[in-house]
Amino acid sequence: MKFLKVVNSLAILFLLVAGCSKKPQPVPPLDPKNMDLTVSPGTDFYQYANGNWIKSHPIPDEYSRYGAFEQLIEQNYKELKSLLKAAAKNKAQQGSIEQKIGDFYATGMDTTKIEQDGISALKSEFQRIAAIKSTKDVQNEIAHLQLVGPSPLFDVGSGQDEKNTETVIAQLYQGGIGLPDRDYYTGDDNRSKEIRKEYVKHIARMFKLLGDDAAKAGAESKTVMNIETQLAKASMTRLERRDPHKTYNKMSLKKLQRLSHNIDWASYFKNIGLENVGDINVGQPHFFKEISKMIKTVGVDDWKTYLRWNLINRSANYLSTDFVKEDFAFYGAFLSGQKVMKPRWKRVLSATNGALGEAVGQLYVKKYFPPEAKERMLNLVMNLKSVLRSRIQKLQWMSESTKKQALKKLDAMNVKIGYPDKWIDYSKLEIKRDSYIANVVRANQFNFRREMNKIGKPVDRTEWHMNPQTVNAYYNPTMNEIVFPAAILQPPFFNNAADDAVNYGAIGVVIGHEMTHGFDDQGRNFDTKGNLRDWWTKEDEKRFNARAQVLAKQFNNYVVLDSLHVNGKLTLGENIADLGGLNISYQALEKSLKGKPRPEKIDGFTPEQRFFLAFAQVWRQNIRPKAQMRRLKEDVHSPGRFRTDGPVSNMPEFYKAFNVKPGDPLYRPKNERAIIW
Ligand SMILES: [Zn+2]
Repeated sequence: MKFLKVVNSLAILFLLVAGCSKKPQPVPPLDPKNMDLTVSPGTDFYQYANGNWIKSHPIPDEYSRYGAFEQLIEQNYKELKSLLKAAAKNKAQQGSIEQKIGDFYATGMDTTKIEQDGISALKSEFQRIAAIKSTKDVQNEIAHLQLVGPSPLFDVGSGQDEKNTETVIAQLYQGGIGLPDRDYYTGDDNRSKEIRKEYVKHIARMFKLLGDDAAKAGAESKTVMNIETQLAKASMTRLERRDPHKTYNKMSLKKLQRLSHNIDWASYFKNIGLENVGDINVGQPHFFKEISKMIKTVGVDDWKTYLRWNLINRSANYLSTDFVKEDFAFYGAFLSGQKVMKPRWKRVLSATNGALGEAVGQLYVKKYFPPEAKERMLNLVMNLKSVLRSRIQKLQWMSESTKKQALKKLDAMNVKIGYPDKWIDYSKLEIKRDSYIANVVRANQFNFRREMNKIGKPVDRTEWHMNPQTVNAYYNPTMNEIVFPAAILQPPFFNNAADDAVNYGAIGVVIGHEMTHGFDDQGRNFDTKGNLRDWWTKEDEKRFNARAQVLAKQFNNYVVLDSLHVNGKLTLGENIADLGGLNISYQALEKSLKGKPRPEKIDGFTPEQRFFLAFAQVWRQNIRPKAQMRRLKEDVHSPGRFRTDGPVSNMPEFYKAFNVKPGDPLYRPKNERAIIW
């Protein structure tokens, strides 16, 4: 999502992907037809479990990756489309959420009007930029653009004070670049160089679409690239940002003013509606020192070019075809390898989700989320919690005092399932049938002000950071809570028609994964109440790091696309969560089977085998090379193949289930296995 801000909150969330009983016909929990029985499980378990599915599901042209998540998202699209279309067709009561959803969707689908309008709806915004005369004007315009959607120079939001999580404070974060990672501006590898070259051409073509001649557009694209390169160089890397101590720098307005003295911060906060801003967390102080220098060294005309670029880049998706096509050619086709654009209705649907997420969510859960699913999920969560509890108690590497704190944290971990108890109130958001981009701007302003209004107030514990209609889950360290939206509680993750082994292997592992995030290399820095506080003894910390290092090394050794490796450090938190989730859920399954007659084999597979097969099924996917290259740099999750083979290769229970022996390619000798939670 670009121009449209989904949630402006800068909370750090650990997601499951970088992404029921309602079905009339039960979905088969595991289909052996999807497997590749010509490969032995000890050679390549991912291929064994998913080989035929992978072969028979080539990536649709509109996708750059296609797997279990995308399959479910496709089904989701269809359900949401019927809701949105109905809302657009009916004359719903003025001011109701149905009216807002319907009008937003209808203006997005009205291509005749969108083509006619061209960029006229943004005329006044471009005029504002054209009228800029001084660096003071530049600063005012940055604040204005952040309010209506684009976020030039840096990001602003609200979030819990990480060392006092009862309160919400303002958050400043590095930003202002158009490429998806700062490393693309600085990298010496061929792909980064190619990306820079194409990006500059793309910027020039966008300026030409705005009416500039070729020479002017060419010069402008270099100006933008020059400014963004300076921003990138001043930015922290993704790895640096994984350390929550480094990104916690709370300061007063006065101190921020000293740090970044060429920017008038008091006026800035006043401009965005925060007259009494209070303390501010500055995510990357060095970055804010550098942009202060840039305010002096970059000329006003160059800033104007950069601001024009930000405006058009962030709004291209909501304008006429020429802009949409050029935007897709770079971001979709060139960067990610997507062959064709998603159909318009899917793009407008995503935008509606971004603008009115919890309004759409209300309609979605009413129609598609059965209350029984919540009950079963709660039970599963309780079972997994009690297993993790006993595993922590038995840990040999952790001291009693740290264990006590860890158990306290686990007991305090909150769980949210399905949808929020309290919905966002959209009554102050005006949505009309006048223009798509105008609706997008109004929604941005509404969501921005909503975020800013939280500052200085106690934290709202009922709040969600994901829509119920999103196929994903998250752990929020500052809330110490795990959250499972309604949309993930469906096959292949959660299947009412399936045996326990399958549900423990799929959604059970997902639950265990999210719980483990509270204890991964990042999450372990936060305490029972979500405060950033060191509650570990030095020795325990050392032992934890040594164990995590084993896992990092394993993943560093995985090779993707000939010579590119997985980044074991970048993906460490997710890999710890995958390994923990698998272990916890396996033990919970064994516990549930104990004392009962042993279930019959299904399709020739034991419950233990079905557990691991269901787990592998969740990660089946096909991905285009360009998208894979991007993900290796940007995604904290490992490729699906290694999210499967990595964790299982550390588990003797897996070896036993499939009779994997020393000498098999997946087999790891005892002293090379990672055991953490
Ligand atoms: Zn995760």
